[in-house]
Amino acid sequence: MKIGVLAVQGAFIEHERMIRKLGADTVEIRKKDDLKNLDGIILPGGESSVQSLLLDKLQMKKLLKGMIEDGIPTLATCAGLILLAKHIENNTESHLATLPVCVKRNAFGRQLASFITTQDVGSISDYPEIFIRAPYITSKEKGVDTICMHEEKIVGVKYKNQVGLAFHPELTDDSRIHQKFMELIVT
Ligand code: GLN
Repeated sequence: MKIGVLAVQGAFIEHERMIRKLGADTVEIRKKDDLKNLDGIILPGGESSVQSLLLDKLQMKKLLKGMIEDGIPTLATCAGLILLAKHIENNTESHLATLPVCVKRNAFGRQLASFITTQDVGSISDYPEIFIRAPYITSKEKGVDTICMHEEKIVGVKYKNQVGLAFHPELTDDSRIHQKFMELIVT
């Protein structure tokens, strides 16, 4: 199994470590060619506006969007979720726009810029969640399932082959989310 981790900016190394610990290979996606022969894609946290600009610069957006729309299993965390969202509040533009949700950036405000909590994520119970200047989902279209909430805000969704999380599973020691993502690839 070969999982590509977008490696233009942000917390990609932590995702790679987690995936390799679970026994799969990783490829750092830095250019168009790196998108060949992948079984899954991870879009890490970081700064979504910077990641988007770099994807444009590297002319990767169209191909990446097409692969996700064609069904490649995709795990997107934090900034990655913003990249996938079809709509971004107070922004007329979106980035890959493959996930029919609206997100609000830096949505938990200054006081709560970063925090850790424990929630269930789908069938995974008591998962430690690290939020760092995180977005949340303000609305979603039909077919998008909520898999995680924090204080009545949607912070995790699944839609077809796409899993979008507002928090950072790669920054914990708990590999259950990555494990579940890999099962999505096998099935
Ligand atoms: N606030 C960031 C953004 O808008 C996301 C933060 C993160 O990935 N930890 O891109």
